[in-house]
Amino acid sequence: MAVFVQKFGGTSVGDPERIARCAGRVKQRVDEGHQVVVVVSAMGHSTDDLIELASRVSDRPERRELDMLMATGEQVSVALVAMALQRVGVPAVSLTGGQAGITTDGAFGRARVTRVDRGRLEAELAEGRVPVVCGFQGLSSTGEVTTLGRGGSDTTAVALAATLRVAEQGGCCEIFTDVDGVYTADPRLVPSASKLARISYQEMLELALLGAQVMHPRAVLFGERYGVPIHVRHSQRPDEGTMICRETPEMEEVMVVGAALKQDLGRVSLRRIPNNAGVQGLLFDAVAKAGIMVDDIMQTEFGEIASISFTVDHGDLADVKIAASKVLDRFGTGELAIEIGLAKISVVGTGMKSHVGVAARMFTALGAAGIPIHNITTSEIKISCILGKEHAQRALAISHEVFGLDQVGALQHAAVR
Ligand code: ADP
Ligand code: ASP
Ligand code: MG
Repeated sequence: MAVFVQKFGGTSVGDPERIARCAGRVKQRVDEGHQVVVVVSAMGHSTDDLIELASRVSDRPERRELDMLMATGEQVSVALVAMALQRVGVPAVSLTGGQAGITTDGAFGRARVTRVDRGRLEAELAEGRVPVVCGFQGLSSTGEVTTLGRGGSDTTAVALAATLRVAEQGGCCEIFTDVDGVYTADPRLVPSASKLARISYQEMLELALLGAQVMHPRAVLFGERYGVPIHVRHSQRPDEGTMICRETPEMEEVMVVGAALKQDLGRVSLRRIPNNAGVQGLLFDAVAKAGIMVDDIMQTEFGEIASISFTVDHGDLADVKIAASKVLDRFGTGELAIEIGLAKISVVGTGMKSHVGVAARMFTALGAAGIPIHNITTSEIKISCILGKEHAQRALAISHEVFGLDQVGALQHAAVR
């Protein structure tokens, strides 16, 4: 008997018919003789609807209250999924994140899982019941309801799978969603994208951080850290899906496995600031204390003065403006400029470690299409270009094409057989 954690995303539980089909998926595993823990997201767009509702009550709702509100979305779906399971003869019990033993830090809206107590889950499984757990939420050590960041139900699922050591008995974490696996790019944006049979944790993590919303980045981190095999599959169609797993030697043969797009970036620039030791520390310490994730950082120096720019999500611009203005006051000189309407296109592949000329190929293709690049960042396995959002879709398609990504899926599938 193996343990499987099965996670169903918002679209997959979007209406009663789909909920019934998800219950069928769970029943199938139970009938095979396995133990199953289910994790569910809020139905359809209900999290967006709740945020919208809050915005009609307050233009700056407190994060604590927003978490309390958003957490209700998942409570609706766990109760319904448990009822659907009971209806088909599978004993089930719905649980909030806190009831399922998930403890987080106290960072509302982007809390991190700090501990999972598996006592309640094990007790339910021992009684022959399927625990149906609210994704995306936990309880802080002081008893506050927290949420894990948009898309965070994936993280709940992988964290539970790690705690239950699913891999030890041949189980895994199944992420059921509205797409039949991980593609070389978002298939909604690049219709020629091909489906990958497998992808390494590192590659998936980079793609997720760079905008591929199919997996929550922290879920991939948990997967890698605790060796949880993650199987991404379509919730309504039988399919082979994609395995997210450890890197294998042949993965290095493929230069690039995926391209991603991150929209709605803004660039914050502090110009004409003193070029002294410690200015970067002061600035980014203030930004970090405001809880803002910084994307790419650029610095230029002109003798005694310097200019530092960084990109952030549009949603963080208001907070970043406050934090950066305070830092400028401390410097006593310099000016703040904010640009909006930027996007980031990235390509990712373990094979970049052993191939040369990857960056040149991407820049040449974008240049030939007349697309200006505002900034470039690279790591061992990724290249990212910041550009105007008006060029984003075309730049994604060009980057996808220049690395032959429409063929990568087929090549992988052929290699597996
Ligand atoms: P869920 O609600 O099931 O968590 P999400 O909407 O969070 O689903 O993630 C699935 C979506 O991710 C897909 O519908 C697809 O448009 C998008 N996506 C982005 N990049 C990729 C990719 N590389 N492969 C597959 N899907 C992707
Ligand atoms: N319901 C949450 C969201 O929409 C969590 C999730 O779907 O994973 O972000
Ligand atoms: Mg998701």
